Amino acid sequence: MMTSARNPLLCRLSFSQSANALTDFSAILPEHIEPAVDELLNASQAALDKACEPSFPANWQSLSGTLDVATERFGVAWGAISHLNGVADTPELRAAYNEALPKVTQFFTSLGSDERLYAKYQAIDPASLNEEQAQAHKNSLRSFQLGGADLVGAAKERYAEIDERLSALSQKFSENVLDSTEAFSYMACEMEMAGVPSDVKIAAKARFDALAIDDEKRGGKTTGYILTLKAPCYMPVMQFATNSALREVLYKAYATRASDASVGSDAALRDNSTIITELLALKHEQAQLLGFKHHAEVSLATKMANSSEEVVAFLRDLASRAKPYAMKDVTEMREFAKQELGLADPQPWDWTFISERLKEARYAYSESDVKNYFQLPKVLDGLFAKIESLFDVHITLDAAPTWNDKVRFYRIVQSGQLLAQFYLDTAARDGKRGGAWMDDARGRWLRVDTNELQTPVAHLVCNFADGAGDKPALLTHDDVITLFHEFGHGLHHMLTRVSERDVAGINGVEWDAVELPSQFMENFCWEWDVVQGMTAHIDSGEPMPAGLFQKMLAAKNYQSGLATMRQVEFSLFDMLLHSQEGAVTEPLALLAEIRKDTAVLPTPSYSRTPHSFSHIFAGGYAAGYYSYKWAEVLSADCYASFEEATLQGAEALKATGKRYLAEILQMGGSRPAIESFVAFKKRKPTIDALMRHQGMQT
Ligand code: ZN
Repeated sequence: MMTSARNPLLCRLSFSQSANALTDFSAILPEHIEPAVDELLNASQAALDKACEPSFPANWQSLSGTLDVATERFGVAWGAISHLNGVADTPELRAAYNEALPKVTQFFTSLGSDERLYAKYQAIDPASLNEEQAQAHKNSLRSFQLGGADLVGAAKERYAEIDERLSALSQKFSENVLDSTEAFSYMACEMEMAGVPSDVKIAAKARFDALAIDDEKRGGKTTGYILTLKAPCYMPVMQFATNSALREVLYKAYATRASDASVGSDAALRDNSTIITELLALKHEQAQLLGFKHHAEVSLATKMANSSEEVVAFLRDLASRAKPYAMKDVTEMREFAKQELGLADPQPWDWTFISERLKEARYAYSESDVKNYFQLPKVLDGLFAKIESLFDVHITLDAAPTWNDKVRFYRIVQSGQLLAQFYLDTAARDGKRGGAWMDDARGRWLRVDTNELQTPVAHLVCNFADGAGDKPALLTHDDVITLFHEFGHGLHHMLTRVSERDVAGINGVEWDAVELPSQFMENFCWEWDVVQGMTAHIDSGEPMPAGLFQKMLAAKNYQSGLATMRQVEFSLFDMLLHSQEGAVTEPLALLAEIRKDTAVLPTPSYSRTPHSFSHIFAGGYAAGYYSYKWAEVLSADCYASFEEATLQGAEALKATGKRYLAEILQMGGSRPAIESFVAFKKRKPTIDALMRHQGMQT
């Protein structure tokens, strides 16, 4: 039996109980997990029970001092375990993690729906709260209400029943999409593979060779290629295969996945048609139980947008501005297809191919050329220098035990005062989950138990290819954008000045506004000064030539009109689907109606886009898909202020950075995002800057 004194999940570094002691990541072993989780869970449960006793005072200080102190300790330890599960997975760690996961999930779910706790929060006198506490209080009452805490009797039972059914249906929806994607395969011969990139061909040939000699997928052949609908195969075939008939086969299978129009054995078992209508009906019923008009109203209750009407008007405005550019994109493709590719009457499965060819002809540059200029250490220097000058802070290397030798730890300081610290883990390796993300190891909190200020700590994680030998890692420009994006989230979390934990940094920020700071940072990757300053050729040490950068810039906005219309169509469909008087029973008819306005390319009648729209039917984006475009508008509009200030000179730029820091980054979730935006911009958001940045001048 392990004593708690030696368990790094229970006793943080330097044997200090200080709020700012760090987790000793290097010492955490799989066998520490179970005893730590059990102890912290019991302590949290005891704190919850204590806080819910009738005699326990219903005031913020007491509740926070008992409950938040316990759940914070639990949350930080569990966060460290989950983090290791994501970045340093081993079979033993995974087993211990999976063993503990259900208990942890169950506790936090029960915490969020505990009626005794809800009553205690309701009993708090709002007049006793400061502004930050009032916002946090409002958020927790609302989350209880949206979880059905106000319902009684049959309505409460029905609510829970619907919840359970919804999660089963969503699960089945995504399984159907996955299964129908995997059920399809096509055996192609050498001739059909013309144009397909060699790495894709090698993988397709390996799939064929792996089949048994008598497997019917071989079609009786001894050599061939097996093509699938998975992205690494489907996309390059649609982009590069010169054989139009081959593209048609794959296109049709892809467009009809998990639907009544899908062919193949057992396709009917994977049809999402009735799942979609049942999901819509249940969401509608649940919204009405809660006293809302429709599901969109429920979804928007926690978002920056006020109403479905506001979102629809925003999307229609965007559509009307982008449509002329989308039509121009199509005209260019038609001309190019006719003159250069001999395609006089392009079909739906030809457009991706034509688009790729046209892009090559007009904007070709070599990705590997670009990569030779972006050395990770130099890029980081450039990024840190930009952050330092924008927000008047200093970033310096710090020291802390980590889970891997290559991980670096930094501190952010302002006028000698520690603001925050972060772990930077950039290299891809075995046992590390793919993708890039920012996670909070700890949030800013003026602790009620010790009156000590807990400073934020963030995890910044990417998966860049490591450098060979003693050479530094080289990044693509997309990698650089990803790095800046995640740092945008990181700065939001770390530069906050809010003292109330649940509304500090990214906590409590509306869902459709949370990408503002991240997308904002991406803009600097397209500034010549910034790019020039953070590039040095791996061999010559020369910065990137201006000509190459100009080509990248031109390619950036390629077909932005078409891309915008596509996103708008999805977003409109999602919002209109969830904001009708009654539940929608004919989603395809609704989509066809929307397309009358938005479509610039014809869609074949067999297409079943909704049937694989997992974002909204299985991914929590129902009546929320518009958020992508919404946040893009906000970030572009904020960035435009920096463009204007740059023209006015160094003083103006400094003042703008200071205002952005004070009104947006530092405020975190302590007030509605629209208030922060207006405080910075002195007006409401407009679409103009986004259109201009994407080459659609209006
Ligand atoms: Zn993001």
